Amino acid sequence: MKSPRFYVQTYGCQMNSNDSERLAGLLKSIGFEASDKEEDAQLVIFNTCSVREHAEERVYGRMESLVERKKKGEDVLIAVTGCMAGRDKNGVLRRRLSMADLFFATPDMVNLPRWIAEFRPNWMVTGNETEDYLKIKPLRQKEYQAYVTIQTGCNHFCTYCVVPYARGLERNRPAADILTEIKDLAARGISDVTLLGQAVNDYIAPDPGSFSPDNPCKNHYAALLWEINQIDGVKRLHWTAAHPLSMSDEVIQALTFPKQVNYLHLPVQSGSNEILRRMNRKYSREQYLEIIRKVKEARPGIALGTDIIVGFPGETEQDFQDTVDLYKACDFDISYTAQYSPRSGTLSFRLYPDNVSEEEKKRRWQILQDLMEENTLRKNQAFLDKTVEVFIEKIEGDFAYGTSSELKSVKLSGAKAEMLGQIVLVKIQKAMTWQLEGEIIQE
Ligand code: SF4
Repeated sequence: MKSPRFYVQTYGCQMNSNDSERLAGLLKSIGFEASDKEEDAQLVIFNTCSVREHAEERVYGRMESLVERKKKGEDVLIAVTGCMAGRDKNGVLRRRLSMADLFFATPDMVNLPRWIAEFRPNWMVTGNETEDYLKIKPLRQKEYQAYVTIQTGCNHFCTYCVVPYARGLERNRPAADILTEIKDLAARGISDVTLLGQAVNDYIAPDPGSFSPDNPCKNHYAALLWEINQIDGVKRLHWTAAHPLSMSDEVIQALTFPKQVNYLHLPVQSGSNEILRRMNRKYSREQYLEIIRKVKEARPGIALGTDIIVGFPGETEQDFQDTVDLYKACDFDISYTAQYSPRSGTLSFRLYPDNVSEEEKKRRWQILQDLMEENTLRKNQAFLDKTVEVFIEKIEGDFAYGTSSELKSVKLSGAKAEMLGQIVLVKIQKAMTWQLEGEIIQE
């Protein structure tokens, strides 16, 4: 009998992508084959995101074609997981998605072998359940780069955010498991590693005894970064997303470790103290600016990224101008700006009326977008005629594509297939807003 095929549709963040790799690893281990096309799969899983309303709406839209397949008598099993399933404490989303056969929070993926065996005994899946989904080995999508989840859930309860409800409270993986996973990746030639956590630098090792006796760091997150820096085969290390509250001096110093990329993503969300208070971010604009000053002092020339929400309830023109001023003071290289979208179940949804008009949110978004593009182009132009290190991620036709240590996209000529996954020296000859172009001068 042919193996049943699965297809996972992923929405949202890198952590969801890594969770989908775990789902794929689990399904492969119980006898499934992966399918590139939803229409060829007997098991279709939607790994959902709840950050914005339209992300949820996309799932309802995609469901329709599957319902049609079922009506035609096709043997297809539909599953919904991720944040929509995780945050649906009152069953409202489950009722709207009643066409799904399985609806489960991410950690419950460990039950899939049993559920599938019950729902489709004729598929003959075999395999054991594990207790902890973070122990499932991900089936990696990329050959040279990997996401490594070190923590799931969050304790911060920012008032606009569904994550603590969808993923639960913060849970950190043992350092020993993380280091074993990264050593295994490095042995397989995966040299570019991104650590993932909702507030990744909050990390507290449940097994601090796993750190080497000569590890100089007291802070657990800095200690973990130090350990990863000692692993042969790891060439670049990146992490996301950091929380300003946990940017201690030791973590800031860890930005100077040799394998750390020259980039920090540090969500600020707003430059107004009143809006930060309403968001429950627990820091002030002055504290954030001080962290950025220290980061720039520790690592001059570091590229900075951030997340911002515009149009949060009660955001006045002055509050927004405070954000614009902070943006200019930090001189961000890149920013991901969202227009506030109320999410049921969050505190801001209950406490504050969504009183900034959609038109005004869009206007504020555009101002920050224009500011970012101006910054990005100016900063990219500073790379002209400079030599930079580029990690090569793919080769297409006569060109290779990669990222600099500042995580800027670079298009290169003169690459050979064996350079994939390598760091090469590149002379930058052209600088545009979203891409640098150059020529390899040294392999
Ligand atoms: S830090 Fe705040 S925004 Fe980030 S995941 Fe936690 S609650 Fe959500």
